[in-house]
Amino acid sequence: MIHIGAHVSVAKGWEAMGKTALSLNADTFAFFLRSPRGGNPKPVVPENAAALRAILEKNHFGTLVAHAPYTMNLCATKEYVKEHAEDVFLGDLQNLEDYLPGQYMNFHPGSHVGQGSDVAVPIIADALNRLMEPGQSTTILLETMAGKGSEVGATFEELRAILDLVDPKLQDHMGVCLDTCHVWDGGYDLTDIETVLEKFDRVIGLGRLKAIHLNDSKNPCGAHKDRHEKLGQGYIGMDVLKSVATHPKLQGLPFVLETPNELPGYRAEIATIRSWFE
Ligand code: FE
Ligand code: FE
Ligand code: ZN
Repeated sequence: MIHIGAHVSVAKGWEAMGKTALSLNADTFAFFLRSPRGGNPKPVVPENAAALRAILEKNHFGTLVAHAPYTMNLCATKEYVKEHAEDVFLGDLQNLEDYLPGQYMNFHPGSHVGQGSDVAVPIIADALNRLMEPGQSTTILLETMAGKGSEVGATFEELRAILDLVDPKLQDHMGVCLDTCHVWDGGYDLTDIETVLEKFDRVIGLGRLKAIHLNDSKNPCGAHKDRHEKLGQGYIGMDVLKSVATHPKLQGLPFVLETPNELPGYRAEIATIRSWFE
């Protein structure tokens, strides 16, 4: 069995996210600690965070997958953009450490904005080495990307290259979040899930795979577009998504929907996924 959930809004506070997740019949979820475009985080209300922790414990949730803002670019060439990205990373990580320890925080490795990935990779790793702490409870996940624009991390090799440059003392706190829409758009043909997972294992190691973003794609494999679709309504298709969610090597992981849905749509997709395990 997997843990299953969706991306939920933080707008009504942390406890409300837990209640929303319960209303979806979810047992994990993803959320932004601040606007996905950056900006200042909403101050966390400690009692509210404690109420969320109680919900998670009582209902046996799997690990949550907090998402750093997608504008956060640790390999930006403009110094003020890079500095801001580092402030955002640290701020979100600190909030998790203070109020929701032991969860995952995934981020888009970055956009190399013309420098080339080979230049950007050590810059990203250097930022992680300065911003992370060996004693932190949060595990940082690199997200597999679609290769849109100058995105870093559209190949397993690029993610491996970042991981290789992370300080050995921080390695226990590093993992990967595989987004099915992104890898599909990046050219990994999920209709042959065995080959994709074998490749992931060979290049990165399946032990690093900590979370899945389960999305269909509006585009064919290799399109490098990154446009998510509802499950079964895109090019990946329901059978292939089912083969991912039910794959023996992926059991126990948190699976998060980032499909273009409101809450009823998420509730229906979660029900569909749960039916695959009956
Ligand atoms: Fe993402
Ligand atoms: Fe994603
Ligand atoms: Zn995406």
